[in-house]
Amino acid sequence: MAFKITEDCISCAACESECPNEAISEGEDRFVIDPDKCTECVGFYNTQQCASVCPVDACVPDPDHQETKEQLLAKFKKLHPDKEPK
Ligand code: SF4
Ligand code: SF4
Repeated sequence: MAFKITEDCISCAACESECPNEAISEGEDRFVIDPDKCTECVGFYNTQQCASVCPVDACVPDPDHQETKEQLLAKFKKLHPDKEPK
């Protein structure tokens, strides 16, 4: 499932450059994750990079975007057609 950023976000921007899919951007009152680009880091890392660096634990799984590992891998392949998943 894609991750989302909660209202606890303090807009420090630490997560933005860590996302391998460029899924994170600055929103109106906090940073936001594009669910069409978030693969939970599947294909790149075993842990979610945004959640790893967030100082206030604002990056959490989004229950509104439930996806299987296979679906996340398919998203990875669509976003990075010339890359092999790790
Ligand atoms: S979980 Fe990974 S892919 Fe999803 S927004 Fe965070 S860093 Fe990006
Ligand atoms: S690292 Fe956390 S607090 Fe900083 S912008 Fe990202 S979600 Fe917000």
